[in-house]
Amino acid sequence: MEKLKEACAVFGLFNNDDFDAGQIAYQSLFAMQHRGQDGAGIAGAVQNEVVIHKDLGLVSEVFSDDSLRPFSNSRVLIGHARYATGGTSRSVIDTQPLVLHGLGGFMAMAHNGTIVNNQQLRMSLQKEGVLFHTNTDNETMMHLINHHSGSIEEKVAAMVKQVRGSYALALIIPGCLIGVRDPWGIRPLCLGKVGDSFMLASESCAFNAVGGQFIRDIEPGEIVVINGQGVHSYQTPPQGKGHFCVFEYVYFARNDSVLDSVSVYESRVRMGRLLSQVAPVDADIVAGVPESAVPAAYGYARESGIPYEQALMKNTYSGRTFITGGQKNREVSVRMKLTPIRKNVEGKRIVLVDDSIVRGTNSMYIVQMLRRAGAKEVHMRIASPPVQFPCHFGINTPSAQRLVGAHMGVDELCRMIGADSLAYLGLDDLINAVGNDKRGMCCACFNGKYPMEIPE
Ligand code: SF4
Repeated sequence: MEKLKEACAVFGLFNNDDFDAGQIAYQSLFAMQHRGQDGAGIAGAVQNEVVIHKDLGLVSEVFSDDSLRPFSNSRVLIGHARYATGGTSRSVIDTQPLVLHGLGGFMAMAHNGTIVNNQQLRMSLQKEGVLFHTNTDNETMMHLINHHSGSIEEKVAAMVKQVRGSYALALIIPGCLIGVRDPWGIRPLCLGKVGDSFMLASESCAFNAVGGQFIRDIEPGEIVVINGQGVHSYQTPPQGKGHFCVFEYVYFARNDSVLDSVSVYESRVRMGRLLSQVAPVDADIVAGVPESAVPAAYGYARESGIPYEQALMKNTYSGRTFITGGQKNREVSVRMKLTPIRKNVEGKRIVLVDDSIVRGTNSMYIVQMLRRAGAKEVHMRIASPPVQFPCHFGINTPSAQRLVGAHMGVDELCRMIGADSLAYLGLDDLINAVGNDKRGMCCACFNGKYPMEIPE
């Protein structure tokens, strides 16, 4: 794994119009495909019964007109695109949404994040006789909700008190869509509207995809209940100012999303501008590694006055390459996704901007690729600090030993990747570039300061 991997997209719809609910969910999940490519699913209420379709693969592989048709009249519906994280399998059974049938009828849930006290909660439920069908922390949260009594918001609030970790949830029960964001506010969740219908999504790009609008972010610790009477908000105590994942801005989120009121695109341009101030270099062109590093490269170019040129072409149709393991194979996989534009790089001194370095192998192949295409110099500039610590909140990270930033200094890493120079953006500059003064941020993969205690 070269990049850190995102761990899912969630979507929810309360259909107040005559929209084809299945199509809306499909288009929204398709727009959030970058968050998870291992599996996808939709669960929708049809005449007070729940219908579900899910499978392994990309959104476009999992759904067809036939499989979407049963959802067309759903009043409430949720969807999920999954990246399988450690501890869960890449099997259909762990693919979301999950469905549970309790005394009050069905409940279906889609989840983005990781519960750090899942094992303790799961064991105590098992001791009480609860049977688990999957390996997911999603199922633990559903059983906890089902275990409590009261209104749906009281049951969810009781679950929120027990669970520690990161979660952005979309769940449905008959006639009702519910959104929940963990009290630390680690993973994103926002509310949008299309026509008179309400939507929940991990990223606002999902609303744009269906011609809808972003309304607002769900607050850390907030439970939003959407039913025939409208949108109702219930606030559980947040954990301080919040701990929003800074890596969402660095790499995970799409350039056209707005997260916690901050435009992802603009924050990346600011990262590039600051990078140019702290790590200037004499060069002929600035180029970005597509897609997420391109805005930072624009920022670097604008600030430095060096022209921006496209040096690398991304194969938009590469999807999953099915090539893993072994140095040679990883190199082939990078080549299948990226190709140098020889005409733009030949004889040039290039500032190459990337968003992050995880293991260093990708950077090494890209630098080699540009040199073979005739680049005279390649100066690597990284729009975030060295990744040194694993994530425990829903992001697949290699062990600390495989994080090159944890054990290699800048000069050594520069030699390893074969660049002429290498420089990172500092953490203070990264936080300034994001400029999210409304929230505190989790920066633990850069500084090791986790927002909560992580059990062994
Ligand atoms: S550890 Fe890193 S990737 Fe994980 S939530 Fe915190 S900032 Fe995001």
